[in-house]
Amino acid sequence: MGAEHAIVLGAGMGGLLAARVLADVYDRVTVVERDQLARTPHSRRGVPQGRHVHGLLPGGAHVIEELFPGLLEELVDWGGTKLVDYARFRFLPDGVHRLSPEMDVEPVYQPSRPFLETGVRARLRELANVEIVDGCDVVGLVTEGARVGGVRVVRRGAAAEELAADLVVDATGRGSRTPMWLAELGYDRPGEEEVVIDVRYTSRLVRLAPDVVPETLTVIGSNPDRPVGMALAAYENGTWLFTVYGYGDEHPTPDYESMLEFAARVAPAHMIAALREAEPLDDVSTFRFRANRRRRYDRMRRFPEGLLVFGDAMCGFNPIYGQGMTVAALEALVLRECLRRGDRQLARRFFRGAAKPIQMAWNMTIGADLALPYVAGPRPLPLRLMNSYVGRVLTAAEHDPVVAARFFKVSAFVEKPPRLMTPSMIARVVAANRRARRLAPAATPDVPAASPVGR
Ligand SMILES: Cc1cc2nc3c(=O)[nH]c(=O)nc-3n(C[C@H](O)[C@H](O)[C@H](O)COP(=O)(O)OP(=O)(O)OC[C@H]3O[C@@H](n4cnc5c(N)ncnc54)[C@H](O)[C@@H]3O)c2cc1C
Repeated sequence: MGAEHAIVLGAGMGGLLAARVLADVYDRVTVVERDQLARTPHSRRGVPQGRHVHGLLPGGAHVIEELFPGLLEELVDWGGTKLVDYARFRFLPDGVHRLSPEMDVEPVYQPSRPFLETGVRARLRELANVEIVDGCDVVGLVTEGARVGGVRVVRRGAAAEELAADLVVDATGRGSRTPMWLAELGYDRPGEEEVVIDVRYTSRLVRLAPDVVPETLTVIGSNPDRPVGMALAAYENGTWLFTVYGYGDEHPTPDYESMLEFAARVAPAHMIAALREAEPLDDVSTFRFRANRRRRYDRMRRFPEGLLVFGDAMCGFNPIYGQGMTVAALEALVLRECLRRGDRQLARRFFRGAAKPIQMAWNMTIGADLALPYVAGPRPLPLRLMNSYVGRVLTAAEHDPVVAARFFKVSAFVEKPPRLMTPSMIARVVAANRRARRLAPAATPDVPAASPVGR
């Protein structure tokens, strides 16, 4: 494989992870980023989602550990948070049932998005054949006959220039211009699948008084009766990120008082009291997320050699399930495997391979979103049956730590969804639901869940 120079467009989590695996095969890897990057964690314009709660699921953490051994523990040494005691995890996927704190699962690393990205970037910079060029806007592709041979870029205050490459990987996020560039080059645009959700996040970084909130991580999801949720995460060096979200018109005005009132609909009183007394460390930020959107590069009949599309540029998921970075990490493993087999038909093989983790995440997200009556879309019988079963799983997970652990591992990409439907799991779920009905005959037994496990 004549692997000389690869260029990655975008230094978000997707671009950094792609660059890491490319560095094992290409003589040189250049990551081109529009933003100016600091050496210390900071929120930046190109990643506005970094101002909102970002969870790294254990499935994604495993990949980061494989690609950057010891990094996550290093982040803990530098002041990061690691959730070890599940009594400190208040996780109500459907806003009603709390997963049993007695579940036996691995620790969860809890870096903020800027902290994680800075750590990964620093490790990447240590590789001799990787260069990160910031303040550099990619404005187009350069072609050599039928293949992509580089990119056109504009550095701050300079004229446009061309950078030659044997492979270009577009990891510029949801705003990726590859569909437009393909059309300009005479190719079809990829087909798109979309499920409109209109979720709005409102967040603020704060400092809480010591020991007023025992929970290191709180995640309270929405359900059919309540289109709102919240998260509170202990981040590095005594900072906490407080996020509320809602569907459609359910969102606070962008001020802290309104956030508190909104959160009081779902959060326990001690948390609201602590947040009321919190010291603000940043302004209130908002983010509107219109739709789950998947671009079907895996279904294109013609695609130029020398180009790949990666991460959110290929598929963006409802952020409330925290899947994006983990799916990008799984795509990095697919890319590594494809590169090991040479560069022949690389795009076709990569898109087909990446379609597998994307499909799994897509099914979970869409399945969970369509359990909510305020999300429009078809609900075939298998989906309704699955969501009804997931509702029963969550009822069971409240008191059965084995069911809780299995649900958590599936949601976190540590185990595959069929593991929730083994005969022993079904038996536990049925028994726990019978028990719950006996103990609380008046209660509604199964709330259709907005949980991260779909079809
Ligand atoms: C509100 C919100 C909350 C989220 N919460 C979670 C969570 O809890 N857990 C999780 O795993 N995921 C979460 N995600 C998703 C996650 O942020 C992404 O999936 C993940 O970062 C991978 O994205 P990416 O690297 O493909 O794109 P991005 O992170 O969007 O990065 C794209 C990069 O490309 C750069 N760029 C763009 N255009 C150009 C250009 N023309 N030239 C040069 N550079 C360019 C940008 O500056 C940026 O650095 C959330 C997303 C949102 C919106």
